[in-house]
Amino acid sequence: MLLLIPGPVTTRPEVRAALAQDIAPWDNEFKAVYRRVLDRVLAIAGGIPGQHAALPLQGGGHFVIEAAIRTFVPPGRKILIPTTGRYSESMIRLAREAGRVPVVLPVAPGHPTDPAVIGAALEADFSISHVGQVYSETGTGVIHDAVAIGAAVHRAGRRMIVDAVSAFGALPMNVAAQQELDAVVFSSNKCIEALPGIAFAVCPIDRLKQCAGQAGSWSLDLSDILTHDARPRFTPPAQIVAAFDRALDFFDAEGGREPRLARYSANAMTFYDGMVDLGLTPWLPRDRQGPIIVVIHAPADPAWNLQNFVDALKARGVLISNFFNTPTPSFRVGCIGAITPDDMRGAVAAMDAALKEIGITRREAACP
Ligand SMILES: *Cc1c(COP(=O)(O)O)cnc(C)c1O
Repeated sequence: MLLLIPGPVTTRPEVRAALAQDIAPWDNEFKAVYRRVLDRVLAIAGGIPGQHAALPLQGGGHFVIEAAIRTFVPPGRKILIPTTGRYSESMIRLAREAGRVPVVLPVAPGHPTDPAVIGAALEADFSISHVGQVYSETGTGVIHDAVAIGAAVHRAGRRMIVDAVSAFGALPMNVAAQQELDAVVFSSNKCIEALPGIAFAVCPIDRLKQCAGQAGSWSLDLSDILTHDARPRFTPPAQIVAAFDRALDFFDAEGGREPRLARYSANAMTFYDGMVDLGLTPWLPRDRQGPIIVVIHAPADPAWNLQNFVDALKARGVLISNFFNTPTPSFRVGCIGAITPDDMRGAVAAMDAALKEIGITRREAACP
């Protein structure tokens, strides 16, 4: 089965095989794996040993986003969150429920966040301490320029938390070059192509120490994780960490981040062009289409039914999401994971056949 959802992604059999062992978390052999994983994450983030730390947290993206907000944004203080889509909504809710004050900055659906608008919003309200930015908005496929937005945050003298959950390992990230960053966060099951169960934050060590004690949560306090010096705090998902380490071997063998991004971009463009050839309409124009996920408008044919389409595709060996996160009806296809442009061509052919099977003749967009 080809899993074309933007996480958890299609993984290699060698990565899945790393689960098939019993592990004692305190065992020296596993402790070395744990430490090595954190060193490798720090290197991919562009962190400087001794100045930055990679911090593991069991769970997924939402857990580590909440942990970053709790650790760095003081209780009752404001965090500016541009409305990129589905995942900015998550960040807004996580901030509010943690007792921080989200300040919502409207961004037009399907458009990138304008760094100048961020700068102006920060100048207009000096009580905002942080900006919470989604880097790759998995709801639409739009990439938000974390470097240019970070520069605006830096000029305004504020701090930034980046949700890089669907970006890390593919899109550029250099925490040492972006001094305004308090945290970059991601999870194991997206562009690193490992299995779900653990998430990571990369943070400046001096900021972690300054912010110790304000999280209002023991389990979600990144400062507390730092004090454990790369030793597991509570029972870690040890098999998931072992599989993550194995996935990083394949990341290195591929040549690292840039070749991985090139493969994902080729996947996305192959799929995008294939959809246009089938008479379907991508949700984003080509110049705003990112490499992580491609969203396609639901066809106008009255016979359209997303679950029927998903079922007809699954019978052909391709599994996509049975929901969408855009304001108008669509279906979404992940271009990340252990997959190639050939797989995307196979998916396009399967979609053509599935559309015919469920009786779709009018393929133009229902709500263009
Ligand atoms: C997947 C994703 C998340 C949420 O991750 P979970 O592991 O489902 O909690 C958050 N942000 C972005 C941008 C994502 O793609």
